[in-house]
Amino acid sequence: MMEQLQEWIASWQRESQEPVCAYVYDLDGIQRHVRSMLDKLPAHSSLFYAIKANPDKRIILALLPLVSGFEVASIGELLKVRDVSHTVPILFGGPGKKDAELDQAILNNVTYLHVESLLELRKLIELAKYRKRTVQVLLRINLRTADLPQTKIRMGGGPSPFGLDETLVEEAISILRENSNTHVKLCGFHFHSLSNNTNAELHAEMVSYYVRKVEEWESQYDIEVSVINAGGGFGVTYDGSPGFDWPLFTRLLKQSEEWNRLGDTEVFFEPGRFIVADHGYYVTEVIDMKLSHEQWFAVIRGGTHHNRLPASWGHDHPFRVVQTEREWQYSWAKPMVVDSNVTIVGELCTPKDRMHTDAQVPRLQVGDVLVFVKSGAYCWTISHHDFLGHPHPTFYYLTEEGIPCASISK
Ligand SMILES: *Cc1c(COP(=O)(O)O)cnc(C)c1O
Repeated sequence: MMEQLQEWIASWQRESQEPVCAYVYDLDGIQRHVRSMLDKLPAHSSLFYAIKANPDKRIILALLPLVSGFEVASIGELLKVRDVSHTVPILFGGPGKKDAELDQAILNNVTYLHVESLLELRKLIELAKYRKRTVQVLLRINLRTADLPQTKIRMGGGPSPFGLDETLVEEAISILRENSNTHVKLCGFHFHSLSNNTNAELHAEMVSYYVRKVEEWESQYDIEVSVINAGGGFGVTYDGSPGFDWPLFTRLLKQSEEWNRLGDTEVFFEPGRFIVADHGYYVTEVIDMKLSHEQWFAVIRGGTHHNRLPASWGHDHPFRVVQTEREWQYSWAKPMVVDSNVTIVGELCTPKDRMHTDAQVPRLQVGDVLVFVKSGAYCWTISHHDFLGHPHPTFYYLTEEGIPCASISK
């Protein structure tokens, strides 16, 4: 991939005076990765893609033939999926669903709606009755256990705006019972308790815990559950340490007693980051370099308004340097460093616009291009694109294995 990018960067710089600034998504890489995930997926389970990690239409289209469906968290996301398919299964979650969103969800045939509060449940019952349509729901539960894996991003196991507190399961079920003549059907439970967990053992234990909890509720409340949505949250690392071990995770599930008691119950997984993170590249040219108080800075065309992940997480984003032959029309020397530490910053007028602090580089000069790897998830989509009004990056897509760089298509 780096070789292909290198050739493509060279052709960009030959053709254009404009500094390189682009996202490249390797659609073929995403498809290969998902196929290898599906190969290991245990029986009784299905893989969905949470599009908020990267809702690019070409990515949704690339995943359409492979995944069981898509998880969306707003009506905007829902319509993006319906734009590519009228029939593909959709899971619709997220706190604060508006009445109009619930109504649209009903009209757009959402397969399972994740109910996040008692108010939402009551409204949905009214709306479904009015529309005379059946809505299948999963109750999203915030568990009362302190034993969930500890990760940077947590949505459950403590006070949280997400889902129903576990102590409200009984009340939710009795609301559904009181309205048993309506069109809202309880099919199961949804859990998405954390994000970016890199520990496969703990993740498998967490899923087993979900299954035990659901079994408990089934016997306690005399209900039959057909779906357990175990969420996403499989982690990606940005510091070179090992990422989530999917083969180990799926092996542990297959061996677990809980999994082998599932019977007809289906388990859903709905990852976002793990599916796309490694297959996006944010590619930007170095515009200026300067020494300030004994520290070198390289300013790139672009920055955190295109890729906010490093600012959001406070991490150093991994990158590779592509040394280029960018034409130099001036009489003075190009600024450059050799074997130095350089802090990589963007073009915004804020000290928060920092991609990497004190990166060790063998050589870097103005006109070189930095390829920020692992930029496929929560990078462009979470960024404040119009702050300062710089032009957006261009988007390119790699579509086939071994495709020559010249045919990377816009
Ligand atoms: C964001 C989100 C996901 C995807 O999370 P990742 O950490 O990207 O895997 C899945 N389910 C829900 C409900 C989410 O909010």
